[in-house]
Amino acid sequence: MVNKDVYCRVIRERLPGVLDRIAAAAGRAGRGRDSVRIVAVTKGHPQDAIAAAVAAGLSDIGENRVEELARKHPAFPGGDVRWHMIGHVQSRKAGRAARLAALVHSVDSVRLAEKLSRIGEADGRRVPVLVQVNASGEAAKGGFPAAEALDGIGTVAALAGLRVLGLMTMAPFTADEAALRSTFRRTRALMEAAGAIPGVEGRELSMGMSNDYAIAIEEGSTMVRLGTALFGERPG
Ligand SMILES: *Cc1c(COP(=O)(O)O)cnc(C)c1O
Repeated sequence: MVNKDVYCRVIRERLPGVLDRIAAAAGRAGRGRDSVRIVAVTKGHPQDAIAAAVAAGLSDIGENRVEELARKHPAFPGGDVRWHMIGHVQSRKAGRAARLAALVHSVDSVRLAEKLSRIGEADGRRVPVLVQVNASGEAAKGGFPAAEALDGIGTVAALAGLRVLGLMTMAPFTADEAALRSTFRRTRALMEAAGAIPGVEGRELSMGMSNDYAIAIEEGSTMVRLGTALFGERPG
């Protein structure tokens, strides 16, 4: 268990600073620390990282690949972990994503939404999801383009096997604070508009990663997806 001890030490060193930054950013936005949930992103890290996160009180765990989620999931049978699917889900893996994750952040097409909805209906439940928005307009980014997002959210929210709880976005990979801020601000404005759409049940905003979470929180994020900030660089 040397490895788990190492991860425990890394988290112990890093988490207090992260919590301070979250509290400060939330305070600047006039919100409480409790309005922001940390999703600890363990992709590329071993099970020991998840065990260490749970020991530190971080029970929301994010993975960006369905295979990796499926591989790690059985090691935590007790319900201590709330799994978050945060990466692109191929249609043929939608069943596993819907059944293993407590929340699928990355609904990036009507086709995937329909697939997830059919699985929810077959299981007699509604799958909790966020709609991914490409608010930066970068060609390489997934999600509904901002101009089409409200139509897309309407279509997704009408599906009987889904619960739409909010939106998710990925900011551009840049240190340009203005570009980051405008991506988050656009997503928040979309969330406010989407709130009027029937079937949109939540106001969650999954936005902010290790390099930009303070800005994301200032702009309204309710879930930050943190890997490097908590665990250090990913191995390999
Ligand atoms: C990897 C990943 C993160 C976390 O990235 P860090 O920069 O390590 O915090 C967040 N969101 C998604 C979708 C990811 O794939």
